[in-house]
Amino acid sequence: MIGVVDTSASPSPRLQRELATVRAMMRLHCRGVHRSAAGLCAECTDLLAYAERRVEACPHGQDDKPSCGVCTIHCYDRVNRERIRAVMRWAGPRMLLHHPWLALLHWADRFRAGRRRPPASAG
Ligand code: SF4
Repeated sequence: MIGVVDTSASPSPRLQRELATVRAMMRLHCRGVHRSAAGLCAECTDLLAYAERRVEACPHGQDDKPSCGVCTIHCYDRVNRERIRAVMRWAGPRMLLHHPWLALLHWADRFRAGRRRPPASAG
């Protein structure tokens, strides 16, 4: 089983898609970097469980949540933030090839989050 958190308790389509994107990126990274043949290695299973807990408890709420990469809160602890960034850096470019629809929607979420940000102060 890839996902650790039961997403049936989280009905928001936006949140379901976010979790599906994180899982897909973790699978790509683990297969490509850790050479896992099936599923996730123990290290990636732990990181995915952590990421799922953070996303499900996101203080932005389910529907207004930005993608974590452009979040101003950054609720991940320092170690896991670096680990997930490494995964995203590696898997991000490959998502277009393996999961183009999820990749495009993820970029759309990043774009929307950027538009919602207040303009930088001039002073
Ligand atoms: S990093 Fe930001 S967007 Fe991602 S789960 Fe944490 S608070 Fe929510």
